[in-house]
Amino acid sequence: MDNKTSILVIYTGGTIGMTKDQQTGALRPFNFDRIYTQMPELREMDYVIDCHSFDPLIDSSDMNPSFWVQLAEVIEKNYESYEGFVILHGSDTMAYSASMMSFMLENLNKPVVFTGSQLPLGMLRSDGRENFITAIEIAAATIDDTPVVPEVSIYFENQLYRGNRAHKFNAEHFEAFLSVNYPVLAEAGVHIKYHHERILKPNFKKLKVHKTLNNNVAVLKLFPGIREEVVAAVVGAEGLKAIILETFGSGNAPTERWLIEQLKRAREKGIIVFNVTQCKGGSVEIGKYAASLDMGKIGIIGGYDITTEAALAKLMYLLGRNMSREETEVLLQKPLRGEMTVGQ
Ligand code: ASP
Repeated sequence: MDNKTSILVIYTGGTIGMTKDQQTGALRPFNFDRIYTQMPELREMDYVIDCHSFDPLIDSSDMNPSFWVQLAEVIEKNYESYEGFVILHGSDTMAYSASMMSFMLENLNKPVVFTGSQLPLGMLRSDGRENFITAIEIAAATIDDTPVVPEVSIYFENQLYRGNRAHKFNAEHFEAFLSVNYPVLAEAGVHIKYHHERILKPNFKKLKVHKTLNNNVAVLKLFPGIREEVVAAVVGAEGLKAIILETFGSGNAPTERWLIEQLKRAREKGIIVFNVTQCKGGSVEIGKYAASLDMGKIGIIGGYDITTEAALAKLMYLLGRNMSREETEVLLQKPLRGEMTVGQ
């Protein structure tokens, strides 16, 4: 019997899996059944590496809740058969998908490592090779038969990030991701250096996959000069259940009366208003400045140092669980998968 570690690679699309068409020169996805032709180095790895390829493959700009459900189902179906999972995904919305998987996969006790690349594997200077191979190493790493990184992560250009803490910040550099509010889980150099104390511990409970997502949410980014009609249109959107309000600094908003009136109207309609900061670092503190005092008074809740990507995923997941607004608001302010730091 083969006792080799088994890894399932799930290919969703994106730049990494592309190759140049010999005739037209255009980039198009290559057939993943031929992955060993593209990457013969995979044969040198002492693991069983199987591939599941989505059909059709998508540019990650086309990511949506039903695709997330399919992705979670592939992991669920194969959970017992593999030690770890590597998800090849376009980098554009990778932070959203990694955040979403972190919430959908409750009691995850195995590594789910997202990776991709800025240049396709089929190009000479591709960053995809190293990203792909190291992601497999990370997904396969164990100590005393326990996975080293049993959570959803993103591996990109030598750094391993918690999936729900990262965001794409650069469309050009190989180093495309940042996690400002949470330090990296591992760094890859000559050796892969794991920061064990930053990595979630397994709880050895049975995996529970949450497949009902509710996308009746909006992200409203404030800016100097924002008009009442714009805010009113968002608040008035049919069926809306929650607004992520991207505020300034530590959670501040213009103090004009109409804004608080519109937000009050949202609250009266039962809409959750979740205050997250436009800053990439630091935390929301409602009431620290007069410019956020009124928001606290009308029941707007703060998301501490959560990223917008994770806030969106968390809301779609919690709204899908059909709890009361109060229960949802309590859970929004609690870290469920290490996505926020409370009380700093
Ligand atoms: N547009 C591509 C995508 O996100 C970019 C990439 O693969 O990194 O699918």
